[in-house]
Formats: sequence, structure tokens, C-alpha cells
Amino acid sequence: ASLDAVDAREPQVQAFLEVSADLALKAAERTDQARARGEELGPLAGVPCAFKDNMHLVGTHTTCASRMLENYESTFTATCVQRMLDAGATPIGKANMDEFAFGSSTESSAFHRTNNPWDTTRVPGGSSGGSAAAVASGEVTVSLGSDTGGSIRQPASLCGVVGMKPTYGAVSRYGVVAFGSSLDQVGPFGRRVEDVALAMNALVSPGRDPFDSTSQDCPIDFLEHLEDPIAGKRVGIVPQLMEVQGLTDEVRDAVNGAARALEDQGAQVVEVDLPNIASAISAYYVIAPCEAFSNLARFDGVRYGYQEQGCATLAEQTSLSRAHGFGEEAKRRQMLGAYLLSSGVYDTYYYPAQQVRTLITQDYERAYEKCDVILMPAAPRTAFKFGELSDPTQMYASDMFTISNNIVGNGGVSVPLGLGRDSGLPVSAQLQGPAFRDRMLLQFARSIE
Ligand code: GLN
Repeated sequence: ASLDAVDAREPQVQAFLEVSADLALKAAERTDQARARGEELGPLAGVPCAFKDNMHLVGTHTTCASRMLENYESTFTATCVQRMLDAGATPIGKANMDEFAFGSSTESSAFHRTNNPWDTTRVPGGSSGGSAAAVASGEVTVSLGSDTGGSIRQPASLCGVVGMKPTYGAVSRYGVVAFGSSLDQVGPFGRRVEDVALAMNALVSPGRDPFDSTSQDCPIDFLEHLEDPIAGKRVGIVPQLMEVQGLTDEVRDAVNGAARALEDQGAQVVEVDLPNIASAISAYYVIAPCEAFSNLARFDGVRYGYQEQGCATLAEQTSLSRAHGFGEEAKRRQMLGAYLLSSGVYDTYYYPAQQVRTLITQDYERAYEKCDVILMPAAPRTAFKFGELSDPTQMYASDMFTISNNIVGNGGVSVPLGLGRDSGLPVSAQLQGPAFRDRMLLQFARSIE
């Protein structure tokens, strides 16, 4: 049924870079046989799942939506993917994304755009736009994305689905092509909070992954307490964030409506302050390009990926392979990173950005003394038109609500709140929480979905 839905909807949506029909049918057959033998099935048995194309899965290409990796075949399977398969999920294919996850619209994919299923003249968000669109269109039931500065929560918001960035370390990054290693975190998309909870259970089991040194044991059953009342808990609102430039009235009203809904259920709404949050975007666009520059140095046109032919020297081969293999945004990020890490400049930008990171972390610690979770928008506005944010700095600003959580490493979830009264497109709220309180986030999410 999922493959039929893909056939029917892909011409309009184009969420996938590769559909793995063979793998899917084989997995489904194995599930059927296990059922016939009376074996106990996994919690995701038969559930159709898409994976962002920066996640390795043997039997598929892993391109990161880049010419650089156009013909690259996965030689191993990422831990996050393997855990979904171990829980019984059926792999439907690899989802489109911004090249190497640089972007917020999926427009920087080297191969094709992905259309928002709600209005195909608009972007699905990004960088995990394919993963969000595949769930929103009903092609798959759940999918995985990665979130370095908002790339799960923002496309979830624009496509009207639930998207969770777990606490840094909760989910293994092994086998996920690195963008910013101190910021990247894998997480699920689903149409309902319960689906996301089920996927989270698979992702954290059976515990810490020895192949990712930053992975931690996260012995949580995300389904447990999901339906518990939130009465008596405290929800923080950051007044400064509800007034930022670029936030549309319909999104602000929807988030305020969610706050009232939580209050009606007995939660207490309190004001909290995040005094340094306005610097989060600036700090991120120093730290993330530096880490990206370092991570993407491996694409040298020798070891793997695109290789320019007929070069006279090794230097020329590396230089031309990178010049022709990477798209515009990938080059912009790496040039920025190279500049920011160069001697002299390092002390002016990189070091202060890390200090700002500490200040923002302390802001959140103080805020969580006063509240259990923080409620805010996930994206300042609903899905925009292709080409509408043509200035890269405008695109960067669209992550204003999500980035700070990557900087501190905490969990966040984007919850759909129906259609905006002005745009008629999906609007959402974001819930953020302290480190490793991700289950409580889903409990709150459940009470406003
Ligand atoms: N939009 C942000 C960026 O371009 C975040 C991307 C992401 O989370 N992968 O860096």
C-alpha cells in the first residue's frame, strides 16, 4: 500500500531520491513469514518508513542530495536505520534533503525539489524536507530526519506533522553523514505523537551505541506516561520570543492558543527569560560552518565521491572535484568555515561563539528552574514559495526558534496545530525541554495535538 501511495503521489510531491521497492518487499515478506510462524513481531512490524538520504542503508545510495556522492552506494547501515529495521519497520526509500543538510527549504538538493503536499508551489521546509513531505503525503507512516539547527522541527511545522529532535546523545549518529558533529541529532517524523513515541522507543533500544562516542544510554519507554495529565506542571513562555520580527500573527496566535489549552488542562503558564537567545543564530552560523568545513574535508575527490578526470596534478584533481561536486550553499558554508577557523580570525569569531554557547546554555538552565518545558513557535511563518527566500541570510533567520536548542543539546518537538487562519497552511508550536526529558516533551505534545 505504501509503494502504491508512492506511485500515486510522487509525481506531485517528489519526496524521495530513491525508492527501495526491493528492500521493502523483502522486509514485508519476512514480516509475513514471521507472523505465519507465530513469532512475536517487533513494535514497528510492517510500518513503512523513509530515511533521510544522509543515513546509510546497505542496498541503497547515500547521496546527501549532492553530486559529490551521486553514485555512492552505502557500505554499511547507520545505527538509527538498523534499529528501526530491527523493530520491524519496512524501508520504503531515501528522502530528499538540502545538500549535506545545509538549508531550510530542500531547495539546495542537487537533484530535484520536493513540493509541500499541502500546496505544491511551496517548499516543504528543510533540510529534512523529503522526510517530512513523505509522512505528510501519506506515502510512509514514519520517517527519520536529522536536526542540526532545526531541520526536523521546521519541516515538520511546514508540512503539518510531528517532528522530534531528541536530546543530543539520545540517538546514535553512527552512519549519518556528519554536518556539525556537536549539533547533529537524528529524530523521527510521524502524523501523531504516538507514532513518534514508537519510533523513539526503537531508536534508543537497546541502549548506548559503542560506535558513537557521544551516544548515551537513554532507558526510557516513550509510550509510558504519554497519556498522563499535565496538570500541575509548569510551561514557560519567553515573551521576547513572541515579539520577534518576522513572526506572523497567525503563528503567534496558534502558540498562544496552545498555551491556553495547556492552562485549561491544569498546567501553569509562567514567563521565563532567555537573555542571550538573540545571539543564537550568530553563534550557530559560526560554529556550524566551522564543523561542516572540517567534516566535509574528507570529500577530496580521491577516497570517494565525485572525481574530476584528466587532471595534471593531485591538487588540481582535489580542487576541481570539490568545485564541481559541491553546490553553491555547500561551498558557501565551507568557505565561511575555512575563513572563520583561519589564524587571527579564530579568536575574533570562533572563540566568542563558543562563549555565547555557554551563556545560552546557562540561560536555559536558569529557565528550567522555573518551568518544566518551554513553549514557543517552531517556525516564524508557514510554508513559503520556491525562491521566495533567495537571500541566504533570510533563510538563516528562519531557524530563529530552533537553533538555540541544538546549541545547548536539549530536546524539542514540533506539534501541528491545524491550519493558519490567514494562510490556510499548517501552523505549529514547539516544545523544548531540559536534557533527557524528551518523554515529558511528548506527554505535553500529546496534550495539545
Ligand atoms: N537551516 C539550518 C542550516 O542551514 C539547519 C539545518 C539543519 O538542521 N540541518 O544550517
